[in-house]
Amino acid sequence: MINVKNLSKSFGKLEVLKNISTSINKGEVVAIIGPSGSGKSTFLRCLNMLEQPTSGEVWFNDTELTNPKVDILKVRQQIGMVFQHFHLFPHMTVLENLTYAPMSVKKLEKSEAVAKAEGLLKKVGLYEKKNEYPSRLSGGQKQRVAIARALAMDPEVMLFDEPTSALDPEMVKEVLEVMKSLTKTGMTMAIVTHEMGFAREVADRVIFLDHGQLLEDAPPSEFFSQPKTERARDFLQKVL
Ligand code: ADP
Ligand code: MG
Repeated sequence: MINVKNLSKSFGKLEVLKNISTSINKGEVVAIIGPSGSGKSTFLRCLNMLEQPTSGEVWFNDTELTNPKVDILKVRQQIGMVFQHFHLFPHMTVLENLTYAPMSVKKLEKSEAVAKAEGLLKKVGLYEKKNEYPSRLSGGQKQRVAIARALAMDPEVMLFDEPTSALDPEMVKEVLEVMKSLTKTGMTMAIVTHEMGFAREVADRVIFLDHGQLLEDAPPSEFFSQPKTERARDFLQKVL
């Protein structure tokens, strides 16, 4: 579904991603891990062109996103993204947060958008909050709304950038549970995370980045028990 070929990204003289090649297959759950500053967010943002790669190619199904002629806004409708800091629309209710893009971008009828939004809010356990404003929700609730909002567009793939890193510890679990239930629907997912237990349990593959290099790409059973590189061993020793 996503194919990355020799992707490099620099900010000025700083080389943040160095010649990365990998792919994400339909239905796969890929955890992206690595030290702070290793390029995880930049990598994820290159997958939907929130960052413009300096060189290399990113393909989404049969579309080359790095081709400047591509209608990237159209493609992004199929790629859901969830950020560390939620990015909900503060002046809209929970329900409006979920119906806004489907109505304005996909031209869904209001009744249809609301029915869909209500179904998704039930799935993430927040139906009773549908008329609240984001400021009245806990961090965990906000993040569950953000996930439901991304799903309201019927994306083909979901990208998560440290979705639980800004949460108080007691709220991490409720968000991970929602993500876990999403993996069971067959959703294709790329997840930047520091939750090693979660990565080990739900990911089909782990990608390890360090200093902008993709050093490991392996199933969690292999990666966590016998990492191939010294740098991955070091990293795991610090976080496990
Ligand atoms: P991670 O998500 O793994 O912590 P990032 O992808 O956020 O890493 O950042 C990788 C490196 O790129 C860091 O050194 C960071 O300071 C730098 N960087 C990220 N975004 C920008 C930007 N917009 N301009 C300049 N440098 C950036
Ligand atoms: Mg990051």
